[in-house]
Amino acid sequence: LSDRLSGIFDKITGRGALSEADVNEALREVRRALLEADVALDVVKSFTDKVRTRAVGAEVIRSVKPGQMVVKIVHDQLVEMLGAEAEPVDLAAAAPVPIMMVGLQGSGKTTTTAKLAKRLTERQRKKVLMASLDTRRPAAQEQLRVLGEQVGVATLPIVAGQSPVDIAGRAMNAARLGGYDVVMLDTAGRTHIDEPLMIEMQEIKAATRPHEILLVADALTGQDAVNVARSFDSRVGVSGIVLTRVDGDGRGGAALSMRAVTGKPIKLIGVGERMDALEDFHPGRIADRILGMGDIVSLVEKAAETIDAEKAKQQAAKLKKGEFDLDDLAEQFRQMQKIGGMSGILGMMPGIGKMKKQLEGAGLDDRLIKRQIAIISSMTRTERQKPALMNASRKKRVAAGSGTDVQDVNKLLKMHRQMADLMKKFGKQKGGLGALFGGG
Ligand code: GDP
Ligand code: MG
Repeated sequence: LSDRLSGIFDKITGRGALSEADVNEALREVRRALLEADVALDVVKSFTDKVRTRAVGAEVIRSVKPGQMVVKIVHDQLVEMLGAEAEPVDLAAAAPVPIMMVGLQGSGKTTTTAKLAKRLTERQRKKVLMASLDTRRPAAQEQLRVLGEQVGVATLPIVAGQSPVDIAGRAMNAARLGGYDVVMLDTAGRTHIDEPLMIEMQEIKAATRPHEILLVADALTGQDAVNVARSFDSRVGVSGIVLTRVDGDGRGGAALSMRAVTGKPIKLIGVGERMDALEDFHPGRIADRILGMGDIVSLVEKAAETIDAEKAKQQAAKLKKGEFDLDDLAEQFRQMQKIGGMSGILGMMPGIGKMKKQLEGAGLDDRLIKRQIAIISSMTRTERQKPALMNASRKKRVAAGSGTDVQDVNKLLKMHRQMADLMKKFGKQKGGLGALFGGG
């Protein structure tokens, strides 16, 4: 696949902005790659639509091939859709925290229950109680008991003849009395979604009010997993997904589908039958897998490096001319985020100590930097280039769009004016701010 992708991307040899034809040609290949990776059809469509919106008209930076540019956009969009950051299982609630595991029969619920219990016990020093609510399969409760012994985690004693809801209630009581931190509720599945299953899950949920409802889904079932996820999410409501048998799935498409359809984070992946074969989900790795690994990844990295370098150069050139618009300011904020805040970058600039103190006094920490970027992102392109356009009604719109108020917008505009003035002053000096910012 990677050969085919880079092949097609090499063919795109425009200059300037990416044209719709360029992007469409590349996307045909991307679409095929996604389908081969077993991504659900409607997800493929929404994904390529998003990439198209982002890519058409995107400026191709001189030293990057247009094809590389598209690869970069595809990769970034994939990571973004997959969730960008790994999300841990959330235990922030009053103990005992109930975690309910749901999913079809054979998806790996019982195995994952024991794996996760082991992990919470060993890594987070939690006192965990596991209970099997599977009264359908004769040996199900015994299966969990055996696994519990194997991983050294307590299981609720088995009492014959109880309903799933009864067992759940007993588990919560036992956990309260026994001082447990977490109760893991392993439920019964079916071979397919049916009404009695959904009702049973709803009853268990009502009885225990789980803090997390983790949907366990088999990566190998591909398209089907998506329908399962949709049903469980709409009928029971899931808070996160555990994808199992990722060890047997070289394609990774199910992850993208599940995430796109439910909007719920993939929290963990199962990568084998052993009790330690449970890992955090890393969107970047799955994105690489979906795109076909290898040279695509290095292609993306190279493109990213070149793009950063080129951006810095462009900016330095603008600064030398004394130009500094709100896009430039946003870029500064982004770099500050990378470097680690205001003190880092401003500390390096001559004659700016006073402003630095001012900004720090105003509490310009990471959260605030994010808010500034949000304000600038809510402006139109023209507004960003000509801040003078910002009248009262525009300010109101931008404030609403960024979840801030007009006062915040005013503050940002004032900060920009001050910085632009400084830039003008220093830009005219040789080796002034331009050199500092651009490094070239
Ligand atoms: P349940 O019916 O949902 O409770 O499914 P089980 O937990 O009983 O698992 C069914 C089978 O899948 C068992 O043989 C497990 O060992 C196997 N299994 C579960 N998770 C994984 C995984 O991540 N990788 C592999 N290869 N097998 C798994
Ligand atoms: Mg089971």
